[in-house]
Amino acid sequence: MKKTELLYEGKAKKVFRTDNDDTLHVEYKDDATAFDGKKKEMLSGKGRLNNEISALIFAKLHELGIPNHFIERISQTEQRIRKAEMIPLEVVVRNRAAGSLVKRLGLERGQDMTPPVIEWYLKDDNLGDPLINEEHIRVLGAAAADELTEMKALALRCNTALIELFQNAGLILVDFKLEFGRDHSGRIILADEISPDTCRLWDAKTGDSLDKDLFRFDGGNLQGAYETIFSRLGGLTNDV
Ligand code: ADP
Ligand code: UDP
Repeated sequence: MKKTELLYEGKAKKVFRTDNDDTLHVEYKDDATAFDGKKKEMLSGKGRLNNEISALIFAKLHELGIPNHFIERISQTEQRIRKAEMIPLEVVVRNRAAGSLVKRLGLERGQDMTPPVIEWYLKDDNLGDPLINEEHIRVLGAAAADELTEMKALALRCNTALIELFQNAGLILVDFKLEFGRDHSGRIILADEISPDTCRLWDAKTGDSLDKDLFRFDGGNLQGAYETIFSRLGGLTNDV
């Protein structure tokens, strides 16, 4: 299958059409952005690590029967995915308080919140991805009520699977963001990426952040931390 024209270039990935209408070709970039793109840097190796980690996680979720867009890893920085009609929402699942939730509610960072808190954000850079509720989603027509129910159920199943996956790697899954789309038959599937760019992961022993917070707050060696996550998940760094 061949990649054809560039369909979209986002902050972290380039998405290409292919000669098959149902599939897309994705390239992970080394760019890092935070705070709505206000902080930006090139971090060599980040694209490879996010592609590898995301491919490994989506393959695992596929094995567990969670419908998703992943087809195959093509190279260290590329993968093939099923094309979806993206739903313009970011679904955040939180097991512990961190980031914007701590700021908004004044909770203590790290506070356990089991059962997990689910939040919806509108994916709209111009509006700064605002936090919204199900009534707002209805008014915006972003997704139907039964689709929200399905996305919530899938997000909770992902959470259960990912908590265990990361726990076995000595990592605490603090929170993460998911995106969903509709496949050609209208079925809701998990899409986009799951990586240390989109999850907060803390070392279970030391409590150190091993995720994008290292970039957000200039906390040290981001690529080293992502490499640690990849190898603890069983990834092999040297194949091409
Ligand atoms: P952003 O748009 O946030 O800057 P990226 O750089 O990660 O994000 O770009 C990837 C784009 O591809 C995002 O807009 C994402 O919603 C979209 N996307 C992810 N998975 C799929 C899919 N299976 N089908 C179509 N589009 C997808
Ligand atoms: N997140 C993301 N993309 C976004 C916003 C958030 O991947 O556009 C992830 C983020 O990495 C974290 C979780 O969603 O794992 C919750 O993020 P939060 O609302 O705390 O926002 P932040 O303070 O990280 O901007």
